[in-house]
Amino acid sequence: MIFLKLAIITLTSLLYLACTESSVDVEDEVKETIPTIEGNFSLTPNVGGLRESVDVHVNTGIWAKLSPGGRYSLYAKTDSLEVESFLFVDGVKCCEGGCRGVRDGDSLRYDFSCKVDEPTRVALSLKNKNGKVLSNSFHHVRLDGEGIYSDHLSLNLIVAGVFDSTADGVIIDILSGKIGLSVQKIFDVWVDTVYVSYAKDHPIVGSLYLNNSVLYDAVIDDFNDLRDSWYESGRNTAFNIVLVDGVRGDLGGIGRFYFDTDLAKKDVLLVSFRNSDRMLVDSKIIQMVVAHELGHVLGVVHTTLTKDDLLMEGDYSLYEDGLVDTPYCQDIVDENKEILKFQALKKQQYRDVLALYQVKQNKPEVVDSVYERICPDVLNIMYPYYECSFHDDRVASPMQRAIVKKNLTLIPH
Ligand SMILES: [Zn+2]
Repeated sequence: MIFLKLAIITLTSLLYLACTESSVDVEDEVKETIPTIEGNFSLTPNVGGLRESVDVHVNTGIWAKLSPGGRYSLYAKTDSLEVESFLFVDGVKCCEGGCRGVRDGDSLRYDFSCKVDEPTRVALSLKNKNGKVLSNSFHHVRLDGEGIYSDHLSLNLIVAGVFDSTADGVIIDILSGKIGLSVQKIFDVWVDTVYVSYAKDHPIVGSLYLNNSVLYDAVIDDFNDLRDSWYESGRNTAFNIVLVDGVRGDLGGIGRFYFDTDLAKKDVLLVSFRNSDRMLVDSKIIQMVVAHELGHVLGVVHTTLTKDDLLMEGDYSLYEDGLVDTPYCQDIVDENKEILKFQALKKQQYRDVLALYQVKQNKPEVVDSVYERICPDVLNIMYPYYECSFHDDRVASPMQRAIVKKNLTLIPH
Protein backbone atom coordinates (compact mmCIF):
# COMPACT_ATOMS: atom_id res chain seq x y z
CA MET A 1 0.00 0.00 0.00
CA ILE A 2 2.93 1.98 -0.48
CA PHE A 3 5.52 3.15 -2.65
CA LEU A 4 3.52 2.86 -5.77
CA LYS A 5 6.14 3.23 -8.37
CA LEU A 6 4.39 5.90 -10.38
CA ALA A 7 6.04 5.46 -13.71
CA ILE A 8 9.54 4.63 -12.61
CA ILE A 9 8.60 5.18 -9.97
CA THR A 10 -2.19 5.94 25.51
CA LEU A 11 -4.24 6.00 31.77
CA THR A 12 -4.27 5.09 35.23
CA SER A 13 -6.67 2.63 36.90
CA LEU A 14 -8.89 5.53 38.04
CA LEU A 15 -9.47 6.48 34.50
CA TYR A 16 -11.32 3.34 33.59
CA LEU A 17 -13.42 2.84 36.74
CA ALA A 18 -16.51 3.65 34.77
CA CYS A 19 -16.46 0.35 32.96
CA THR A 20 -14.50 -2.09 35.05
CA GLU A 21 -17.69 -3.34 36.69
CA SER A 22 -18.80 -4.37 33.27
CA SER A 23 -15.78 -6.54 32.66
CA VAL A 24 -16.59 -10.21 32.65
CA ASP A 25 -15.60 -13.15 34.81
CA VAL A 26 -13.29 -15.82 33.48
CA GLU A 27 -16.13 -18.26 32.80
CA ASP A 28 -17.75 -15.67 30.58
CA GLU A 29 -14.75 -15.39 28.30
CA VAL A 30 -16.70 -16.65 25.37
CA LYS A 31 -16.70 -14.76 22.15
CA GLU A 32 -20.01 -13.62 20.93
CA THR A 33 -20.91 -14.04 17.35
CA ILE A 34 -19.06 -11.76 15.01
CA PRO A 35 -20.99 -8.52 14.77
CA THR A 36 -22.42 -7.21 11.55
CA ILE A 37 -22.24 -3.48 11.09
CA GLU A 38 -22.86 -0.90 8.40
CA GLY A 39 -19.75 0.20 6.59
CA ASN A 40 -16.29 -1.14 7.10
CA PHE A 41 -14.55 1.62 8.99
CA SER A 42 -11.93 0.85 11.62
CA LEU A 43 -10.76 2.94 14.53
CA THR A 44 -7.00 2.81 14.96
CA PRO A 45 -5.87 3.44 18.54
CA ASN A 46 -3.98 6.61 19.40
CA VAL A 47 -4.30 8.40 16.09
CA GLY A 48 -6.62 11.19 17.27
CA GLY A 49 -10.17 12.17 16.32
CA LEU A 50 -9.84 12.71 12.63
CA ARG A 51 -12.26 11.00 10.33
CA GLU A 52 -15.79 12.01 9.60
CA SER A 53 -16.52 8.51 8.35
CA VAL A 54 -15.81 7.16 11.84
CA ASP A 55 -17.86 9.96 13.46
CA VAL A 56 -20.85 9.15 11.28
CA HIS A 57 -20.70 5.40 11.90
CA VAL A 58 -20.19 5.40 15.68
CA ASN A 59 -23.99 5.41 16.06
CA THR A 60 -24.22 2.01 14.40
CA GLY A 61 -20.74 0.55 14.88
CA ILE A 62 -17.10 0.93 13.97
CA TRP A 63 -14.49 -1.80 14.03
CA ALA A 64 -11.67 -1.84 16.58
CA LYS A 65 -9.18 -4.53 17.52
CA LEU A 66 -8.90 -5.06 21.28
CA SER A 67 -5.78 -6.44 22.88
CA PRO A 68 -5.49 -8.73 25.96
CA GLY A 69 -4.87 -6.45 28.94
CA GLY A 70 -5.49 -3.35 26.86
CA ARG A 71 -7.00 -0.33 28.61
CA TYR A 72 -8.98 1.94 26.37
CA SER A 73 -10.79 5.25 26.36
CA LEU A 74 -13.22 6.18 23.61
CA TYR A 75 -13.69 9.91 23.27
CA ALA A 76 -16.52 11.64 21.42
CA LYS A 77 -17.99 15.10 21.22
CA THR A 78 -21.69 15.65 20.73
CA ASP A 79 -23.84 18.73 20.39
CA SER A 80 -26.83 17.03 22.04
CA LEU A 81 -26.70 15.83 25.65
CA GLU A 82 -30.47 15.44 26.03
CA VAL A 83 -30.24 11.67 25.88
CA GLU A 84 -27.34 9.91 27.61
CA SER A 85 -25.24 7.75 25.31
CA PHE A 86 -23.63 4.47 26.34
CA LEU A 87 -20.75 2.56 24.84
CA PHE A 88 -21.53 -0.90 23.51
CA VAL A 89 -18.84 -3.42 22.58
CA ASP A 90 -20.11 -6.14 20.23
CA GLY A 91 -18.01 -9.23 19.56
CA VAL A 92 -16.95 -10.00 23.14
CA LYS A 93 -18.83 -10.03 26.45
CA CYS A 94 -17.91 -6.56 27.67
CA CYS A 95 -19.80 -3.40 28.52
CA GLU A 96 -22.99 -5.46 28.62
CA GLY A 97 -25.94 -3.15 29.04
CA GLY A 98 -23.67 -0.32 27.89
CA CYS A 99 -20.73 1.38 29.55
CA ARG A 100 -21.46 4.79 31.02
CA GLY A 101 -19.32 7.74 29.97
CA VAL A 102 -18.02 10.71 31.92
CA ARG A 103 -17.52 14.31 30.91
CA ASP A 104 -13.92 15.11 30.09
CA GLY A 105 -13.56 18.73 28.99
CA ASP A 106 -15.80 19.19 25.99
CA SER A 107 -15.82 15.43 25.25
CA LEU A 108 -17.53 12.35 26.57
CA ARG A 109 -15.06 9.69 27.68
CA TYR A 110 -15.79 5.96 27.95
CA ASP A 111 -13.12 3.96 29.77
CA PHE A 112 -13.18 0.24 29.25
CA SER A 113 -11.07 -2.88 29.43
CA CYS A 114 -12.39 -6.14 28.00
CA LYS A 115 -11.14 -9.62 28.85
CA VAL A 116 -9.94 -11.25 25.68
CA ASP A 117 -7.52 -14.17 25.29
CA GLU A 118 -6.13 -12.90 22.03
CA PRO A 119 -6.44 -9.77 19.92
CA THR A 120 -10.10 -9.61 18.95
CA ARG A 121 -12.00 -7.50 16.49
CA VAL A 122 -15.11 -5.87 17.96
CA ALA A 123 -17.66 -3.27 16.94
CA LEU A 124 -17.87 -0.15 19.12
CA SER A 125 -21.01 1.99 19.12
CA LEU A 126 -22.59 4.80 21.12
CA LYS A 127 -26.30 4.09 21.68
CA ASN A 128 -29.05 4.83 24.19
CA LYS A 129 -29.48 2.85 27.44
CA ASN A 130 -31.51 0.20 25.65
CA GLY A 131 -29.00 -0.25 22.88
CA LYS A 132 -31.06 1.63 20.31
CA VAL A 133 -29.48 3.89 17.74
CA LEU A 134 -29.46 7.53 18.77
CA SER A 135 -30.43 10.40 16.52
CA ASN A 136 -27.77 12.79 17.78
CA SER A 137 -24.48 12.98 15.95
CA PHE A 138 -20.97 12.60 17.29
CA HIS A 139 -17.72 14.08 16.15
CA HIS A 140 -14.02 13.95 16.97
CA VAL A 141 -14.42 10.27 17.86
CA ARG A 142 -11.13 8.78 18.89
CA LEU A 143 -9.80 5.74 20.72
CA ASP A 144 -6.85 5.95 23.07
CA GLY A 145 -5.31 2.70 24.22
CA GLU A 146 -2.39 1.33 26.10
CA GLY A 147 -1.45 -2.32 26.36
CA ILE A 148 0.72 -4.68 28.34
CA TYR A 149 3.35 -5.44 25.75
CA SER A 150 6.80 -3.90 25.39
CA ASP A 151 7.43 -0.62 23.62
CA HIS A 152 10.64 -2.15 22.32
CA LEU A 153 10.61 -4.50 19.38
CA SER A 154 12.71 -7.06 17.58
CA LEU A 155 12.76 -7.70 13.87
CA ASN A 156 13.15 -10.97 12.03
CA LEU A 157 14.57 -10.40 8.57
CA ILE A 158 13.61 -13.44 6.50
CA VAL A 159 15.36 -13.91 3.19
CA ALA A 160 12.99 -15.61 0.77
CA GLY A 161 14.45 -14.81 -2.62
CA VAL A 162 17.83 -15.19 -4.24
CA PHE A 163 19.68 -12.52 -2.29
CA ASP A 164 23.43 -12.09 -2.11
CA SER A 165 23.81 -8.38 -1.49
CA THR A 166 22.21 -5.01 -2.24
CA ALA A 167 23.18 -2.87 -5.24
CA ASP A 168 25.73 -1.09 -3.05
CA GLY A 169 27.26 -4.39 -1.95
CA VAL A 170 25.71 -4.72 1.52
CA ILE A 171 25.36 -8.33 2.64
CA ILE A 172 22.47 -9.54 4.78
CA ASP A 173 24.28 -9.51 8.14
CA ILE A 174 25.26 -5.87 7.66
CA LEU A 175 21.91 -4.93 6.16
CA SER A 176 20.09 -6.31 9.21
CA GLY A 177 22.07 -3.97 11.48
CA LYS A 178 21.41 -0.99 9.24
CA ILE A 179 17.67 -1.74 9.20
CA GLY A 180 17.57 -1.96 13.00
CA LEU A 181 19.37 1.36 13.36
CA SER A 182 17.18 3.21 10.87
CA VAL A 183 13.93 1.95 12.47
CA GLN A 184 15.31 2.97 15.85
CA LYS A 185 16.36 6.41 14.64
CA ILE A 186 13.25 7.23 12.63
CA PHE A 187 10.62 6.11 15.16
CA ASP A 188 12.65 6.59 18.34
CA VAL A 189 11.85 3.07 19.52
CA TRP A 190 14.40 0.64 20.87
CA VAL A 191 15.14 -2.26 18.56
CA ASP A 192 16.41 -5.09 20.74
CA THR A 193 17.50 -7.62 18.12
CA VAL A 194 17.38 -8.00 14.36
CA TYR A 195 17.42 -11.71 13.55
CA VAL A 196 18.42 -12.98 10.13
CA SER A 197 16.50 -16.05 8.96
CA TYR A 198 16.07 -17.90 5.70
CA ALA A 199 12.65 -19.02 4.58
CA LYS A 200 14.14 -22.34 3.40
CA ASP A 201 15.32 -23.01 6.99
CA HIS A 202 11.88 -22.65 8.59
CA PRO A 203 11.44 -25.81 10.70
CA ILE A 204 7.94 -26.58 9.41
CA VAL A 205 7.37 -24.95 6.04
CA GLY A 206 10.98 -24.38 4.94
CA SER A 207 10.77 -27.00 2.20
CA LEU A 208 8.25 -24.81 0.40
CA TYR A 209 10.89 -22.13 -0.09
CA LEU A 210 13.68 -23.37 -2.27
CA ASN A 211 17.14 -21.91 -2.10
CA ASN A 212 17.16 -20.72 -5.67
CA SER A 213 13.55 -19.72 -6.18
CA VAL A 214 13.19 -16.19 -7.48
CA LEU A 215 10.19 -14.53 -5.89
CA TYR A 216 8.63 -11.83 -7.99
CA ASP A 217 4.95 -10.98 -7.72
CA ALA A 218 4.96 -11.81 -4.00
CA VAL A 219 1.87 -11.22 -1.85
CA ILE A 220 1.69 -11.27 1.97
CA ASP A 221 -0.55 -14.32 2.22
CA ASP A 222 2.12 -16.45 0.51
CA PHE A 223 4.27 -16.05 3.63
CA ASN A 224 1.81 -16.38 6.52
CA ASP A 225 3.35 -19.71 7.53
CA LEU A 226 6.60 -17.90 8.34
CA ARG A 227 5.03 -15.83 11.13
CA ASP A 228 6.06 -18.16 13.94
CA SER A 229 7.25 -21.69 14.85
CA TRP A 230 10.89 -20.70 14.52
CA TYR A 231 13.27 -22.42 16.94
CA GLU A 232 13.69 -19.43 19.23
CA SER A 233 11.05 -17.50 21.17
CA GLY A 234 12.75 -14.24 20.11
CA ARG A 235 12.24 -15.00 16.44
CA ASN A 236 8.66 -16.06 17.07
CA THR A 237 7.66 -12.76 18.63
CA ALA A 238 9.66 -10.45 16.36
CA PHE A 239 8.07 -8.46 13.57
CA ASN A 240 8.72 -10.47 10.43
CA ILE A 241 10.10 -8.75 7.37
CA VAL A 242 10.32 -10.98 4.31
CA LEU A 243 12.84 -9.96 1.67
CA VAL A 244 11.63 -10.96 -1.77
CA ASP A 245 12.80 -10.21 -5.29
CA GLY A 246 9.64 -8.24 -6.04
CA VAL A 247 6.25 -7.44 -4.51
CA ARG A 248 3.13 -7.71 -6.66
CA GLY A 249 2.31 -4.47 -8.39
CA ASP A 250 5.95 -3.45 -8.51
CA LEU A 251 5.68 -2.14 -4.99
CA GLY A 252 8.79 -1.35 -2.97
CA GLY A 253 7.11 -3.11 -0.07
CA ILE A 254 3.79 -3.82 1.60
CA GLY A 255 2.68 -3.84 5.23
CA ARG A 256 -0.96 -4.25 6.26
CA PHE A 257 -2.51 -2.19 9.05
CA TYR A 258 -2.50 -4.53 12.07
CA PHE A 259 -5.50 -2.82 13.67
CA ASP A 260 -7.61 -3.16 10.51
CA THR A 261 -7.44 -6.93 10.23
CA ASP A 262 -9.33 -9.58 12.17
CA LEU A 263 -6.20 -11.70 12.53
CA ALA A 264 -4.93 -12.45 16.03
CA LYS A 265 -1.37 -12.78 14.74
CA LYS A 266 0.55 -9.98 13.15
CA ASP A 267 1.20 -10.26 9.45
CA VAL A 268 4.58 -10.47 7.87
CA LEU A 269 5.53 -7.45 5.82
CA LEU A 270 7.21 -7.73 2.45
CA VAL A 271 10.08 -5.70 1.04
CA SER A 272 11.50 -5.92 -2.47
CA PHE A 273 15.24 -6.07 -2.97
CA ARG A 274 14.85 -5.51 -6.72
CA ASN A 275 13.09 -2.66 -8.50
CA SER A 276 10.58 -2.92 -11.35
CA ASP A 277 13.48 -3.36 -13.79
CA ARG A 278 14.57 -6.34 -11.68
CA MET A 279 17.76 -4.56 -10.72
CA LEU A 280 19.04 -4.72 -7.15
CA VAL A 281 18.23 -1.66 -5.03
CA ASP A 282 20.49 0.16 -2.57
CA SER A 283 20.57 -0.75 1.10
CA LYS A 284 19.24 2.73 2.01
CA ILE A 285 16.08 2.12 0.02
CA ILE A 286 15.46 -1.18 1.79
CA GLN A 287 16.03 0.52 5.16
CA MET A 288 13.52 3.27 4.34
CA VAL A 289 10.92 0.86 2.95
CA VAL A 290 11.13 -1.37 6.04
CA ALA A 291 10.57 1.64 8.32
CA HIS A 292 7.70 2.87 6.15
CA GLU A 293 5.92 -0.51 6.11
CA LEU A 294 6.46 -1.02 9.82
CA GLY A 295 4.83 2.39 10.32
CA HIS A 296 1.75 1.08 8.51
CA VAL A 297 1.66 -2.13 10.55
CA LEU A 298 1.66 0.03 13.69
CA GLY A 299 -1.18 2.24 12.49
CA VAL A 300 0.45 5.21 10.79
CA VAL A 301 -1.02 6.22 7.43
CA HIS A 302 0.54 8.11 4.55
CA THR A 303 1.16 11.81 5.18
CA THR A 304 -0.87 12.40 2.01
CA LEU A 305 -3.26 9.65 1.01
CA THR A 306 -2.99 8.29 -2.49
CA LYS A 307 -5.87 7.66 -4.86
CA ASP A 308 -5.50 3.96 -4.15
CA ASP A 309 -5.60 4.55 -0.38
CA LEU A 310 -8.87 6.41 -0.79
CA LEU A 311 -10.43 3.87 -3.14
CA MET A 312 -9.28 0.87 -1.14
CA GLU A 313 -10.56 2.16 2.20
CA GLY A 314 -13.64 3.74 0.63
CA ASP A 315 -13.16 6.69 2.96
CA TYR A 316 -13.04 10.07 1.30
CA SER A 317 -13.42 12.07 4.53
CA LEU A 318 -9.72 12.70 4.89
CA TYR A 319 -7.12 13.28 2.23
CA GLU A 320 -4.09 13.42 4.51
CA ASP A 321 -3.07 11.87 7.84
CA GLY A 322 -4.73 14.61 9.90
CA LEU A 323 -1.74 14.90 12.20
CA VAL A 324 -0.98 18.55 12.94
CA ASP A 325 2.77 18.06 13.02
CA THR A 326 3.20 16.47 9.60
CA PRO A 327 3.06 18.39 6.32
CA TYR A 328 0.99 17.07 3.41
CA CYS A 329 1.02 17.56 -0.32
CA GLN A 330 -1.69 19.87 -1.62
CA ASP A 331 -0.78 18.95 -5.22
CA ILE A 332 -1.60 15.29 -4.60
CA VAL A 333 -4.78 16.19 -2.66
CA ASP A 334 -5.94 18.29 -5.62
CA GLU A 335 -5.17 15.48 -8.07
CA ASN A 336 -7.12 12.97 -5.97
CA LYS A 337 -10.13 15.24 -5.53
CA GLU A 338 -10.21 15.77 -9.26
CA ILE A 339 -10.23 12.05 -9.94
CA LEU A 340 -12.65 11.04 -7.20
CA LYS A 341 -15.31 13.59 -7.95
CA PHE A 342 -15.94 11.81 -11.19
CA GLN A 343 -17.00 8.77 -9.24
CA ALA A 344 -20.25 10.58 -8.59
CA LEU A 345 -20.83 10.66 -12.34
CA LYS A 346 -21.94 7.71 -14.40
CA LYS A 347 -19.48 4.87 -14.73
CA GLN A 348 -18.46 5.41 -18.33
CA GLN A 349 -17.40 8.97 -17.63
CA TYR A 350 -15.45 7.75 -14.62
CA ARG A 351 -13.70 5.15 -16.74
CA ASP A 352 -12.85 7.78 -19.33
CA VAL A 353 -11.30 10.06 -16.73
CA LEU A 354 -9.39 7.21 -15.16
CA ALA A 355 -8.08 6.14 -18.58
CA LEU A 356 -7.04 9.70 -19.31
CA TYR A 357 -5.26 9.86 -15.97
CA GLN A 358 -3.44 6.62 -16.69
CA VAL A 359 -2.38 7.79 -20.14
CA LYS A 360 -1.03 10.97 -18.58
CA GLN A 361 0.96 8.91 -16.12
CA ASN A 362 2.77 7.27 -19.01
CA LYS A 363 3.76 10.49 -20.77
CA PRO A 364 7.32 11.54 -20.07
CA GLU A 365 6.43 15.18 -19.45
CA VAL A 366 3.84 14.15 -16.84
CA VAL A 367 6.27 11.70 -15.29
CA ASP A 368 8.53 14.67 -14.84
CA SER A 369 5.75 16.48 -13.06
CA VAL A 370 5.75 13.73 -10.45
CA TYR A 371 9.17 14.93 -9.50
CA GLU A 372 8.18 18.57 -9.80
CA ARG A 373 5.33 18.32 -7.31
CA ILE A 374 5.98 20.60 -4.43
CA CYS A 375 5.43 18.14 -1.62
CA PRO A 376 6.63 19.39 1.74
CA ASP A 377 6.16 15.89 3.17
CA VAL A 378 8.60 14.23 0.78
CA LEU A 379 11.15 13.71 3.53
CA ASN A 380 8.64 12.21 5.94
CA ILE A 381 8.98 8.44 6.28
CA MET A 382 5.26 8.05 5.51
CA TYR A 383 5.30 10.00 2.25
CA PRO A 384 3.64 7.56 -0.17
CA TYR A 385 5.57 7.69 -3.40
CA TYR A 386 8.72 6.06 -4.50
CA GLU A 387 10.74 9.17 -5.24
CA CYS A 388 11.13 9.66 -1.48
CA SER A 389 13.13 6.45 -1.29
CA PHE A 390 16.06 8.21 -2.81
CA HIS A 391 16.31 10.35 0.31
CA ASP A 392 18.18 8.63 3.09
CA ASP A 393 17.43 11.20 5.79
CA ARG A 394 13.71 10.63 6.15
CA VAL A 395 12.03 11.36 9.47
CA ALA A 396 8.93 10.70 11.57
CA SER A 397 7.18 13.50 13.47
CA PRO A 398 6.70 13.43 17.27
CA MET A 399 3.02 12.48 16.78
CA GLN A 400 3.89 9.64 14.42
CA ARG A 401 6.49 8.42 16.90
CA ALA A 402 3.96 8.56 19.75
CA ILE A 403 1.48 6.47 17.74
CA VAL A 404 4.12 3.85 17.00
CA LYS A 405 5.30 3.62 20.59
CA LYS A 406 1.84 3.32 22.14
CA ASN A 407 0.50 0.93 19.55
CA LEU A 408 3.49 -1.35 20.07
CA THR A 409 2.16 -1.96 23.62
CA LEU A 410 -1.11 -3.22 22.10
CA ILE A 411 0.44 -5.78 19.76
CA PRO A 412 1.61 -9.11 21.22
CA HIS A 413 5.30 -9.37 20.43
ZN1 LIG B 1 2.76 3.21 2.40
